[in-house]
Amino acid sequence: MQHTGRIHHAFLLRGISGNGKHAFAMRWANALICEDTRTAMRPCGICRGCILFGAGTHPDVEIVESPPGKRNIGIDQIREVIEHIWLSRQFASWKPVVVPGAECMTISAANTLLKTLEEPPGKAVFILITDRSDRLPITVRSRCRFLDFPIPPKELVLPWLAEQLPPSADTGLLLAASGGAPLLALRYGKGDTLQQRTALHKELTMLLTGKANPMIIAARWKTLGCAVVLPWILSYVIDLIRLRFREELQPTLHSDDAAALRRLAGKLDSSFGYRLLDRCLETRRVWEDSTSLNELLLLEGLAIDFTIYDS
Ligand SMILES: [Zn+2]
Repeated sequence: MQHTGRIHHAFLLRGISGNGKHAFAMRWANALICEDTRTAMRPCGICRGCILFGAGTHPDVEIVESPPGKRNIGIDQIREVIEHIWLSRQFASWKPVVVPGAECMTISAANTLLKTLEEPPGKAVFILITDRSDRLPITVRSRCRFLDFPIPPKELVLPWLAEQLPPSADTGLLLAASGGAPLLALRYGKGDTLQQRTALHKELTMLLTGKANPMIIAARWKTLGCAVVLPWILSYVIDLIRLRFREELQPTLHSDDAAALRRLAGKLDSSFGYRLLDRCLETRRVWEDSTSLNELLLLEGLAIDFTIYDS
């Protein structure tokens, strides 16, 4: 497509985390700067462009991410990229700009990018990636062509996952825990993430049954960070509510915990369940909107909410 010159200039890759958007975007960016015109949308892997891309030093490729230790993509980063696109000497036919975590752009960064998305310099191609497109300003979204990455069917993913992991791995559980995202499931299978997640779910059950101190639990959560624990806590609460109404549903937990959760759900006051859900969503919103909040305080508040249950 790129060699015929017919291409849209701004794309938004949407879908849940860990389902291949990033890998796709990088391969696409590589294909855009590949100098071998015979391979169409496949990078040849051996030309000068591909070699520089592989080394992360291609002068026409921009990857815009939040800096280490920060959660936002700031206006200065966007300005720098735009300046570079306009001023730099062109080496390849296209200048791909990949923005993983596009929802992390601050409002001013997004507004600055907007002007360039409206009138992009001739050969720039913006590839924005997000698993939370609802957090991107509508003005940015409306200037992009969407490419949606749906959750692939389990029947396709499970055999692939089994090939990648040792035979002892519980691929069904890994996939359920990752919300169906294959690459996230693989990451879970290779580290101790699943154990951490199981431990957190046990802690939530203990909090709900008054068997744990919320301050101690919150301090442990803090070591994992809000980015990790908030989605897990949310999925636990959703499982709890689902089990309350549809007992036969398979929760996304380890089977030992599933039994405990099922018992708990049976006694759950549904209005309490919904209150917890609201609190989880509210906590996530506060965390996403703030750059300098006290994570421990936020997590303590949430842990305490789980103890206010007297069934
Ligand atoms: Zn090439």
